[in-house]
Amino acid sequence: MNDPGLFWQAGAWQRLGAALAAGRLHHAVLIGGQPGVGKGALARRLAAAHLCPRATAAGGCGACPACRQVAAGSHPDFSLLEPEEPGKALPIDAVRGFAGQLALTSQYGHGKVGIVEPAEQMTVAAANGLLKTLEEPAPGTLLILVSAEPGRLLPTIRSRCLQVTVPAPEPEAALAWLAERLEEPAVAGEALAAARGGPLRALALAGEGALEARRRWHAAVVAVASGQADPVSAAADCTRDDVRRQLEWLQQWVADLARMAAGGAPRPGSAPEAELQPLRQTTNVERALALSGALARLRQGLVDTNPNAELLREEILTLLAGQDTRPGAS
Ligand SMILES: [Zn+2]
Repeated sequence: MNDPGLFWQAGAWQRLGAALAAGRLHHAVLIGGQPGVGKGALARRLAAAHLCPRATAAGGCGACPACRQVAAGSHPDFSLLEPEEPGKALPIDAVRGFAGQLALTSQYGHGKVGIVEPAEQMTVAAANGLLKTLEEPAPGTLLILVSAEPGRLLPTIRSRCLQVTVPAPEPEAALAWLAERLEEPAVAGEALAAARGGPLRALALAGEGALEARRRWHAAVVAVASGQADPVSAAADCTRDDVRRQLEWLQQWVADLARMAAGGAPRPGSAPEAELQPLRQTTNVERALALSGALARLRQGLVDTNPNAELLREEILTLLAGQDTRPGAS
């Protein structure tokens, strides 16, 4: 059976599938979109459609050996370049190996596909190493770059790709989709908010216990914002949890507060009212905007660094309390 795809990807697929079936798809495609919208699934659907001898505009047939091997990641003409561990860089050596694979003759005689995911993890040397493959791919080769942050790719890479963005679904449709798949449908809104609107990420977060971590963090944030706890003691209650996620979640609460104060409508992944209500009492729109800027600067400083989680968590909550204690701060 054809891969029916994720319902919110129908538009993106239509564009890609039709071009591929007509034999006029660009040889390099960059799939963008926020985390959890299924960029990787779309990339694999496109890979199967390219390698399947019975493909139609709807995609690969889903039944032939080629389709099954793509699904299993074992197709000899399919290469995946991904970091050794999540979050690690993609080095030049890995790109050389990947490009070498793609340069070999197709074993099944139906072209080749290479996926780079996440593409923004390539080092500058690695990205430059990939340029040659992007410029002069072997005939019948399709290269698919997947990235939640296409803006971090070299402009020379981006400009050589057909760019397709996978949107997040509308909130109501996303919640219905999630409620059908969650063990506890009642947490759909919370899960979607934790994932900032990315349904697949929402499922993953709910499955790995991240919603409990988010509730602990929310309690700490409310306690600090309302002056009921100091940043250091509040931070101590959630030391087991991922500080990058905590920063991201606080940024999201603050952004939702600012948008609602300005009369904006909820977006996919907006925090449920029950989460925002206790924060709204302590944070007006000027405060939310100031905090939003400070948190964004803090996050910017974290790109490619390994922060001391404990200090960072205290710094975040200190910003929230409005008592910046860093040396030199006034
Ligand atoms: Zn097939």
